[in-house]
Amino acid sequence: MIVANEKPLEEILRMVQGYKRILVLGCNTCTAVCLSGGEREARQLASQIRAKAMIDGEGPQVEASGIERQCEPEFLTEYLDDWRERFDLVVSLACGAGVQTLAELLEDRPVVPALNTAFIGSYQGDGTWVEMCKACGDCVLERTGGICPVTRCAKGLLNGPCGGSQGGSCEVDPEKPCAWHLIYERLKRLGQLERLREFVPPKRWALDRKDGGPRKRVRRDVTLPAFRKGVL
Ligand code: SF4
Ligand code: SF4
Repeated sequence: MIVANEKPLEEILRMVQGYKRILVLGCNTCTAVCLSGGEREARQLASQIRAKAMIDGEGPQVEASGIERQCEPEFLTEYLDDWRERFDLVVSLACGAGVQTLAELLEDRPVVPALNTAFIGSYQGDGTWVEMCKACGDCVLERTGGICPVTRCAKGLLNGPCGGSQGGSCEVDPEKPCAWHLIYERLKRLGQLERLREFVPPKRWALDRKDGGPRKRVRRDVTLPAFRKGVL
């Protein structure tokens, strides 16, 4: 999932200042699951904005709602005309992709982010989410027992450990496990330790580079009528 953190309330209050009709919109997928941006959090944030406005003697209309996925236009389009009519500003609790998708569709209304998008990760218990994938574009998990060295090794090493690991912990941060220790243990359980002898060639880092602009995925087949009819 995409993991995101709440922005400080003061920053959000600055962004909504001067607007009279505000929609606080949660996203009920990733940011809801990481407990920062679902409909429940949208309602809490709307209450905080209302409370501050009352203290300041202002009276904006603040409503809260949530939709399934803000990053997918099909979940948004049925509401757009209504939002355009009723709100001057949308405060989005989606990830950066959701905020931008909504902003593109609501072209004559500002959309501002209530969250800081952090990483792709998973829940590890005890209220902790951990980064698992950097979306590098050239996945090596098949070689590494399903544990990502690009993300979870502090040095991003692809061909084994650096040699500094102590007792299974990373030398860069002893609070974190050494990714290559985890990979070794996992491959041992799988009976695949010989895989450690395979040379992992340099990755296609060009697929990870941001200096060529945003990456994209294109599937022309989904535009064919046969695909739409479910024949393909
Ligand atoms: S190798 Fe790349 S795509 Fe695969 S999990 Fe790691 S960062 Fe993500
Ligand atoms: S100790 Fe392990 S995780 Fe840390 S940098 Fe070295 S190989 Fe990577």
